Amino acid sequence: MMNRKRASGIGLAFVLVCAALIVIYPFSARFQRGRLEVTVLDVGQGDSIFVTFPDGRTMLVDAGGLPGANYVRGMRPGLDVGEDVVSPFLWSRGLKRIDTIVMTHAHEDHLGGMPAVLRNFRVGELWVGRDEDAAGYRHVLAEAKAKGVAVIHRLRGEHFDWAGVRVSVLWPDSSDPARARNDDSVVLRLQDGQDSFLLTGDIERAVERSILADGDELAAKFLKVPHHGGRTSSTPAFLEAVHPVVAAISVGEANAYGDPNPETTERILAQGTRLFRTDRDGAVTITTDGQSMNVHSFLSCANPCSELSSSAASPAEGPAF
Ligand SMILES: [Zn+2]
Ligand SMILES: [Zn+2]
Repeated sequence: MMNRKRASGIGLAFVLVCAALIVIYPFSARFQRGRLEVTVLDVGQGDSIFVTFPDGRTMLVDAGGLPGANYVRGMRPGLDVGEDVVSPFLWSRGLKRIDTIVMTHAHEDHLGGMPAVLRNFRVGELWVGRDEDAAGYRHVLAEAKAKGVAVIHRLRGEHFDWAGVRVSVLWPDSSDPARARNDDSVVLRLQDGQDSFLLTGDIERAVERSILADGDELAAKFLKVPHHGGRTSSTPAFLEAVHPVVAAISVGEANAYGDPNPETTERILAQGTRLFRTDRDGAVTITTDGQSMNVHSFLSCANPCSELSSSAASPAEGPAF
């Protein structure tokens, strides 16, 4: 029988070896080097979109949230989408840090999960558009300030080049304070080689019209459908300009708003677009190397179609991926 001293020595050696392995081979973030990834998470009624750039840089656009919930000592009772859905997804990717969080606008279904994400991860920057006169917005800003996270206003006309991906801010056009409105949403377009992604927050027809009038490049192979597929967004002129090959609606099952609006989904489908819905398909992930795009959805593509091929994801007469 091994004496106790020797056993504890072996135990200590084991702990030291494990510690050394963790230092030498830290649990690293999982991403596909050289590919841009956009995942529309399934957060029920709300938005949260995770982006990984080809060099591993990370961006989280909104963090979901349940409308109507209140904070108790900075925490939310019941389900906290940030704590219970978004953070576990990010942890599953081996992440401890998010480079950029974008708060598109000050509605609870977009920012409710943010305090938890700010608590659970080291965050580089928080991007906002307009300064919104809303309690939830102020709460997120206070949380960011307490963590020493830089808050940066991003406005129309700004561009960045991240690992070969051009990030363009298409909206809002001013940071002047406003009451929280869908039409204040930060709109981003990501261009990687031949492929492009349009992330629209909750914009409605007035901003769709303004962006069209501004004459920015709007065509995008992937569209995050504005405002959960609501009736007052995705106007024919806007859809015609974007002409997405793939689109996703972030929406809660049997939600109280009746989203998505059947006429809106009809308009999208009439473009020959392949349409995903998070309430039916679960999270939707699109990746590209700038040449070819892969689409995967968590529920509807369980096994046989784990990776939709480019041709399967394209409409018959649409452009090749
Ligand atoms: Zn919303
Ligand atoms: Zn909204």
